[in-house]
Amino acid sequence: MHVSSRVSRMKESATLAVAARAAAMKREGIDVVAFGTGEPDFDTPANIKAAAARALEAGMTKYVPTPGTPEARAAVAAKLRTENGIDCAPEHVSITAGAKHSLYLALQCLVDPGDEVVLPTPAWVSYRPLIELAGGTCIEVPGAMERGFRITPAQLDAAIGPRTRAVILNSPSNPCGIAYPPEEMRALCDVVAARPGVTVISDEIYEKLVYPEVEPGLRAFSPGSMPALRERTVTLNGMSKAFAMTGWRIGYACAPAGGGAFMRELVKLQGQMTNNIASFFMPAIVEALSPASAPQVERMREAFAARAKLVHALLSEIPRLRGVAPTGAFYAFPSVAGCRGLRSPAGRAISDGQSYAEALLAEAHVAVVPGGEFGACAGDHVRLTFACDEAMLRTGLARIAEFTASLR
Ligand code: PMP
Ligand code: GLU
Repeated sequence: MHVSSRVSRMKESATLAVAARAAAMKREGIDVVAFGTGEPDFDTPANIKAAAARALEAGMTKYVPTPGTPEARAAVAAKLRTENGIDCAPEHVSITAGAKHSLYLALQCLVDPGDEVVLPTPAWVSYRPLIELAGGTCIEVPGAMERGFRITPAQLDAAIGPRTRAVILNSPSNPCGIAYPPEEMRALCDVVAARPGVTVISDEIYEKLVYPEVEPGLRAFSPGSMPALRERTVTLNGMSKAFAMTGWRIGYACAPAGGGAFMRELVKLQGQMTNNIASFFMPAIVEALSPASAPQVERMREAFAARAKLVHALLSEIPRLRGVAPTGAFYAFPSVAGCRGLRSPAGRAISDGQSYAEALLAEAHVAVVPGGEFGACAGDHVRLTFACDEAMLRTGLARIAEFTASLR
């Protein structure tokens, strides 16, 4: 059967592909350490599960308004006002099937064929394909490892041209595992604010996973809180990472533009695609955003902070790898350039992150994601997820150390 060119030329999600490969090896009985998928190992907090179960039992099984129930939208808007300083109302919010769906909807609503979307890289694997699906051109702005993978205002300014429709900002970052200090984010936002007609898409899915334990004073910053950008920001977030709810598929978008006019367009598209997400999840969203969940979110954050330190300490002991200390999200993104030109014990040539990741999986049974999937500048890197327990981290990193030392 014919497949449309826009879909057939799209790349598959490399993060999901690595996860599937590791799962297939595990089914074959191979003891794989999976550092591939960015998914918390914790279970969803019990009070959130109970709220969904109660709603299901009570018969909340029918369609609800496409962007969510008034209560759930109000809870999201209140969270964005109080925690993020974004001046918004419930009608500026839509609840979607994951932040990924929010991103898709936002790009479809913003981008016309020929428009450009500026993307600081290394960046998450789904941005470029979804920009291109909308007909846009992705303009990568490379963040150097020596600067902690953070781009400069001058770099951003140079990348914005007459066809730029949007700039995607993602702090804390997947795959870099870094967060921009608030004043650096503000400086990037000032660059956008000076360019009328350019929208910020701020992906804040990792906002709660920031580690001042590693970099004192570090905290998340929301571009949509700046008055100059209030009408020019689409804020994306969701439940997956901070609340350990990846499988529930709950995300949201917020855009106060035009008194809700932009959001009405986004909801129109959502209404033709998916309608509302599962209706009995709506009370669970309200519960997740209530003060009852905050201590559990903080406990998970503390665990991730401890793992961030452990992973960095263990990686730093491996002479051929180089990286930066993770300060946010749950990723380490070391460079394997020091292994270039070497061969694995089974004779595989290591030329970049891709060949390193393939040899590591085949010979040492550790799954990591090749860096080239995250941007042209990142071919020499690999991404490790530290969303798993300490024993698994120690086992996996011991295998990585041994494998890397065995290269000749
Ligand atoms: N943005 C980033 C940067 C991510 O890493 C992820 C994780 N898949 C998402 C968005 C989407 O998350 P979800 O669709 O699970 O809400
Ligand atoms: N965001 C996660 C990751 O990068 C989950 C998989 C995905 O949707 O990309 O691994």
